[in-house]
Amino acid sequence: MSWNDKAKTYWDNTPKEIQFKIINNMFCMCTKENTTIIDYIVFPENKHAVLRGKCIKRGNNVERMLDEPFE
Ligand SMILES: [Zn+2]
Repeated sequence: MSWNDKAKTYWDNTPKEIQFKIINNMFCMCTKENTTIIDYIVFPENKHAVLRGKCIKRGNNVERMLDEPFE
C-alpha cells in the first residue's frame, strides 16, 4: 500500500465521531477561531495523515496534521 493510501485508510478508519470533532475543530486566521474544514484532501506527511482544505467561513486554506502516526 502506498503512503498516500495508508494515510487515507487511517483517516477512513478513524471513528466518525472523532472525524467530526477534527473537521469542526480547525484553526483559521480569518477569524482566529475554530472553524470547519471543507473540500479537504488527505495525504501523508512523516507518517501522519494531513487534512488540507478550505475554511467554511471565507475559503482560506486550512491544514491540520493528525496527532497519531499511522504506522
Ligand atoms: Zn477561515
